[in-house]
Amino acid sequence: MAPIPQPRASTVQAIYRAYEAANEHYDSLGISVGEIGNECDRALYYNLRWVSEPEEIDGRKLSIFRTGDRWEEVLVSDLERIGVEVFGQQDRIRLADGHIRGKCDGKAMGVVEAPRTIHLCEFKSSNDKGFKEIVKQRCKEARPTHYGQCQMGMHYFGLTRCLYLVVNKNDDARYAERIEYDAEWCIRQIARCERIIFNDAPPARLSEDPEFFKCRFCKHRDVCHGGAMPRVTCRSCIHASPERGGDAAWSCSRWAKPLAIDEQKAACPAHLYLPHLIDGEQIDCSEEEEWIEYRMRNGTVWRDGAAANDNTDTAA
Ligand code: SF4
Ligand code: SF4
Repeated sequence: MAPIPQPRASTVQAIYRAYEAANEHYDSLGISVGEIGNECDRALYYNLRWVSEPEEIDGRKLSIFRTGDRWEEVLVSDLERIGVEVFGQQDRIRLADGHIRGKCDGKAMGVVEAPRTIHLCEFKSSNDKGFKEIVKQRCKEARPTHYGQCQMGMHYFGLTRCLYLVVNKNDDARYAERIEYDAEWCIRQIARCERIIFNDAPPARLSEDPEFFKCRFCKHRDVCHGGAMPRVTCRSCIHASPERGGDAAWSCSRWAKPLAIDEQKAACPAHLYLPHLIDGEQIDCSEEEEWIEYRMRNGTVWRDGAAANDNTDTAA
């Protein structure tokens, strides 16, 4: 018989709850450089369009993130201890008119292997298992998302080398890898992101099988494979478009105006889902009354739109 788990002490529960209360949920304004290594185009599109609710992260995991922040400070002081100058921490990265965005961990001068070359810095902390994978397979293969961050940072700041420095949280071992800038890789990834950003339709799925292991761990699985309704924000509305020439600017064709971030999150009563986001076939619409009707995958008929207040699902 399995042992009965010990109840968690109230003090520990209170600490976790405090981390959760202080955690701010936020939606990324664009495609984060940390996501570019994700091979699923559709996941990037869904992130950009805010289709899923922000993830609820438990207090213990949030504490792990804070520990990661502290490790970053330790790695900077490690470098300074050996005479490396670290500067430009948190400098912003903006590409594709601000729709690709992020921050760098810093830049370094005086790196032991090449003291006269400015390196981008990418600092990570990892558990023992992850650390061993990184040491064995190196960054590109073991952590493609970290590799993407390194490459995009070098591309934006015009650097040719990145110092990828990782600490093993279990035993304090350090791993350093100098990553070379790959211009072709970066140009391909920026073009890929622009296709995702400036296209209303979701790109192809990574897999059509919801049980595919990457889909099982994807936060968009319910919308992508399960027919769940996306969140109602401007980013899921047929009238909203990402704009060129600003810093992650979006506009609304319905009201002919630019959209501030708070407006995008709130949406408005004229919200009308992008038909590509609905798990059904479009069967009718009225431009004057602003509604679109769908035959849903389960056979019911559903009308979306401002004039659809009295709509009821009807059996097909
Ligand atoms: S569920 Fe799978 S196919 Fe869909 S967005 Fe996530 S990873 Fe991509
Ligand atoms: S119609 Fe409303 S919900 Fe749609 S983009 Fe414009 S402001 Fe946003």
